[in-house]
Amino acid sequence: MESTPQKLEMFYEGKAKKLYSTPDPDLVIAYFKDDATAFNAKKRGTIEDKGVINNRMSELFFGLLERAGVRTHFVRRLNDRDMLCKRLQIVPVETVVRNMVAGSMAKRLDREEGEELKFPIVEYYYKSDALDDPLVYPEHALLFGWATEDELKTIRSLALKVNDVLRKFLDERGIILVDFKLEFGRHHGEILLGDEICPDTCRFWDKATRKKLDKDRFRRDLGNVEDAYQEMLRRVEG
Ligand code: C5P
Repeated sequence: MESTPQKLEMFYEGKAKKLYSTPDPDLVIAYFKDDATAFNAKKRGTIEDKGVINNRMSELFFGLLERAGVRTHFVRRLNDRDMLCKRLQIVPVETVVRNMVAGSMAKRLDREEGEELKFPIVEYYYKSDALDDPLVYPEHALLFGWATEDELKTIRSLALKVNDVLRKFLDERGIILVDFKLEFGRHHGEILLGDEICPDTCRFWDKATRKKLDKDRFRRDLGNVEDAYQEMLRRVEG
């Protein structure tokens, strides 16, 4: 048994996770909370056991991705709510991949949710609560020094690879991967996939019924939020 690293200081608290330093400066512990927010924290609530589910689901997805050659910050899950990760210097750009029209794309372009896209689109959003995470061009990231050209190339190709791997895996389990958000960061100069991959950060629809099995149930007050998260975990655990 590997020993469990000690949690030292909490150095960051986000909407869904707290980050703790450890005695090893290269490693951090992410603690997964049940707190749920939407619309830039204008809506707040809790989803019972969300932290436990998102920690476990992220472990499964990160493992799957690592086996497919995508380098991630994931080291190992320590317990129900704690994950040991490599420390990242986060690139302040959220990367969204979409296979279907939904959410902000449906709203911005006045299109029906569920319209299939002929090919996946990669979008970038500048991480800024004050500005409500605006959509940006990759060139903005270059101009303002958020990432280098090489880093952006890596991020785009990793994002599309993640889409290929997850889409196939989920399709086999009766789930449509509608869209998702990724975060990337630098670890000793290398771009790694960070954050979490779970129903908070992805849109998952049941293939047969199109039932939403993700955070849209919370955002849109659709009910049965906890059930949807549990159902997704069961599908992913297979
Ligand atoms: O809201 P929008 O349609 O742009 O979201 C696209 C995808 O990115 C959704 O799966 C959503 O859950 C995710 N997302 C996220 N965090 C954000 C914005 C979007 O996880 N801040």
